[in-house]
Amino acid sequence: MNTAEIINMSENYLAHTYGRYPLALVKGAGVKVWDADGKEYLDFVSGLAVCNLGHCHPKVTEAIKKQAETLIHVSNLYHIQPQAELAQLLVKNSFADGVFFCNSGAEANEAAIKLARRYSFDTFGAGRSEIITMNNSFHGRTMATVSATGQDKFKKGFEPLLPGFKHVPFNDLTALEAATSDETCAVLVEPIQGEGGVNVPSDDYLEGVRALCDEKNLLLILDEVQVGMGRTGKFFAYENYGIEPDIITLAKGIAGGVPMGAMMAKKPVINSFVPGTHASTFGGNPLSSSAGVASVSTILNDSILENCLSMEKILKEKLTQLQTKYEFIKEVRGKGLIYGMELDFEGGHIVTKMMEKGFLINCAAAYVLRFLPPLIVSEKEIGEMADALDEVLGGLER
Ligand SMILES: *Cc1c(COP(=O)(O)O)cnc(C)c1O
Repeated sequence: MNTAEIINMSENYLAHTYGRYPLALVKGAGVKVWDADGKEYLDFVSGLAVCNLGHCHPKVTEAIKKQAETLIHVSNLYHIQPQAELAQLLVKNSFADGVFFCNSGAEANEAAIKLARRYSFDTFGAGRSEIITMNNSFHGRTMATVSATGQDKFKKGFEPLLPGFKHVPFNDLTALEAATSDETCAVLVEPIQGEGGVNVPSDDYLEGVRALCDEKNLLLILDEVQVGMGRTGKFFAYENYGIEPDIITLAKGIAGGVPMGAMMAKKPVINSFVPGTHASTFGGNPLSSSAGVASVSTILNDSILENCLSMEKILKEKLTQLQTKYEFIKEVRGKGLIYGMELDFEGGHIVTKMMEKGFLINCAAAYVLRFLPPLIVSEKEIGEMADALDEVLGGLER
């Protein structure tokens, strides 16, 4: 099928939940993807921070192929070797003592919300169920996670929402402290807000949140669905800030593009999940777990984090040069290979113009262009993208 045929079929038969670009991608390798008409693109979206190793990384593809020929699914009625291996790999490289696997970021946050409430119930008794989250946060689209999310546009028409969430401004410790009460059990925060517009907190913010949680016996839940898995140049984003959370949620980049989510916690918190408290039919199944083992071990062992950090320097330099050149660029911000460029107008048409030139970027919040290249991106590819962006920005009629 060509692009027009795919778009036609897609429009006819799917729920219209997405405002999709008029593009149908059919093939990928590394940083490159191709559309159904054979046009090539450099991908600075990475399936929304999912394909951190690029498209069809040979180690991930090989693991999927091998597992698909051996055993795809059995359910969590039984022990699953690749699931146990992935859990061991994650625990040995983190603060955590135990892992629960699910299938998405929203599900990982659902698990975290349930675990926080249950742990508080087990430890302090009933009545301590409130979770504080941040304005402009994004935690998912299920009823609980949309209730946790601090953006009204995702909630409209879906009321009544799940009670028990309070929202405060991001990067504001005073507001956070003022919002805590005897009913609070946890604080849920993204180390860097992704969907909210690549918002990076001040260097000591998370340390302050950690101290406040310790003082008031609250659990610190970090949503690293977007910025974990090497995206910031550390395997976990919290490693940049000299703190450890009590609970962390992961998804997106964890299994190289195969759907998977994970929630991890320290003891004794993780022990509040006992048989019967939570479950997922597909969670950690042999296929996704094998892809997860391949992805995680490659990120940890194949100099991926080193490349992420050296390419950050290039990307930051190129974007900052553009900021000096164009007065309508208000700010360039990010960490590792998640960067945002805030404009003083909406950036949707720039995304489209970049696509015409063969480069995929997107907007996080209407005014912020977001750059999420695979962590294996090269200096040459960043240069090509920046040159194209320069041409697009220079050609704007304003
Ligand atoms: C994408 C995202 C989610 C939701 O993940 P899904 O897999 O789409 O459910 C949750 N939190 C953050 C920070 C995200 O970026």
